[in-house]
Amino acid sequence: MKTYDYIVIGGGSGGIASANRAGEHGARVLLIEGKALGGTCVNVGCVPKKVMWQASEMLTMLQRDTAGYGITASLEKFDFGELVQRREHYIDFLHGAYQRGLDHNHVEVLRGFAHFESDHVVVVEGQQYTAPHILIATGGRPSLMSVPGGEMAIDSDDFFALQEKPESIIILGAGYIAAELAGVCHELGIKTSWAYRKERPLRTFDRMLSDNLVELYRESGMALYPEYVAEKITREAAGFCVSFANGQELRGDLVLFAGGRTPRTDSLCLENTGIKRDDKGFIKVDDYQNTSVAGVYAVGDVIGKLDLTPVAIAAGRRLSERLFNGQTHLRLDYNLVPTVIFTHPAIATIGMSEEEALKQYGAERIKVYKSRFTPMYFALNDYRQRCVMKLVCLDQEERIIGLHGIGIGVEEMLQGFAVAIKMGATKADFDNTVAIHPTGSEEFVTMR
Ligand code: FAD
Ligand code: NDP
Repeated sequence: MKTYDYIVIGGGSGGIASANRAGEHGARVLLIEGKALGGTCVNVGCVPKKVMWQASEMLTMLQRDTAGYGITASLEKFDFGELVQRREHYIDFLHGAYQRGLDHNHVEVLRGFAHFESDHVVVVEGQQYTAPHILIATGGRPSLMSVPGGEMAIDSDDFFALQEKPESIIILGAGYIAAELAGVCHELGIKTSWAYRKERPLRTFDRMLSDNLVELYRESGMALYPEYVAEKITREAAGFCVSFANGQELRGDLVLFAGGRTPRTDSLCLENTGIKRDDKGFIKVDDYQNTSVAGVYAVGDVIGKLDLTPVAIAAGRRLSERLFNGQTHLRLDYNLVPTVIFTHPAIATIGMSEEEALKQYGAERIKVYKSRFTPMYFALNDYRQRCVMKLVCLDQEERIIGLHGIGIGVEEMLQGFAVAIKMGATKADFDNTVAIHPTGSEEFVTMR
């Protein structure tokens, strides 16, 4: 049996961050990864997604926006295959960078899939490993579509494996991934139909965001189908047909299902341990990432709290500070986490939606400020895309408990505002901050 100070199962966002931080503090660390270093984010998540988003933004700028500025530009060639090849080359570079970082911190990397033999014994290909501290950071995978023919739908992993651009695609789902990939596909010139089962997508976000996204996608020519509950997928001579409960059918070259993610705990043999899971399979942890077994912890998507890379990283790093650097009370505060949805245009949001705030505090304690304007980017264009923003404020002091925006550039505006909001900023603090002109972000400090 080989012994370490810290064993980390899963070399994705949370696992790598925690392993590195423990190594920096002198712990003897073993990191076990079954597939590629970097996990979901680097290989089939944030990174390839952002590259595709960037490419689609560029194509749109070239074809839609340059003419207003007196620039005559025409698209000579867009080679989807080359884009994918260059994207994967960049991802390979990141694999090397992660490996070098781990080497630098003396983290031993073991390739293979781990399972538990008992609370503190982990096995990879017959070899046993043990440590007083073990982290589970095994992430998640796309949930399967449970309708007849559902296995013929691709998921986000498969989308990033495409080497050729399909002519058309049907996207099913209503969350981050459906919203983002619908936008990417449409802007890359794929005929895109986005069908979701309820009245609007992104229902957990402020209504202003989803309503405007729906309008903006429709304005851009995307076909949207609310209240379309998929019942069956059938293969046809060319492509697939999705049949819906309302009797309608949609046809396309590909069907992509993005209806949430499932924790990757099935192959860990947790039944050999006292580690408890909830009814959806997510590992139960307390505020300090402790599982129900002393000395075993979990961070990231496998706990199903907030599936975001910086959340997994922050939780993993804090855990290592607590375990190996004496910061015994350090833990991640999961409140007021900023997030961006890379739609076209992007959505940026932190804190409570107006609906949540009204429900929690009542109308008499909530004041909402809104702004709607045309960013100067579109000043000379025939197409004038709006940007809408909102601040949700609480009580007399007007502490800002929610900030939301959809529009060009909001993805880069949010981070700084998130610092202020996390520090407890009020509307008066925002008003007291002199605007930067002419920018879109100045609207957040000039709302009346
Ligand atoms: P992962 O990154 O999934 O890493 C888990 C690792 O564990 C994997 O490498 C897996 O191979 C390994 N593993 C699993 N089981 C075992 C085992 N038994 N033994 C050994 N290794 C094992 N988040 C953002 O913040 N911004 C974004 O823009 C964003 N875009 C996304 C786009 C898509 C399409 C998707 C799917 C996700 C996106 N996310 C984004 C979410 C983000 O990718 C995840 O929240 C993040 O990767 C979670 O990190 P993790 O460490 O928990 O798990
Ligand atoms: P989400 O949890 O964001 O959304 C899934 C939605 O799909 C559900 O809310 C539901 O909405 C709908 N849905 C669920 N089941 C079905 C079904 N059977 N048929 C049709 N629709 C269904 O999941 P995603 O897979 O989009 O993303 C997973 C997570 O990854 C996100 O929550 C996010 O944390 C992370 N992520 C982050 C990104 C970023 O930071 N930019 C980008 C991509 C992912 P309804 O009930 O309204 O139908």
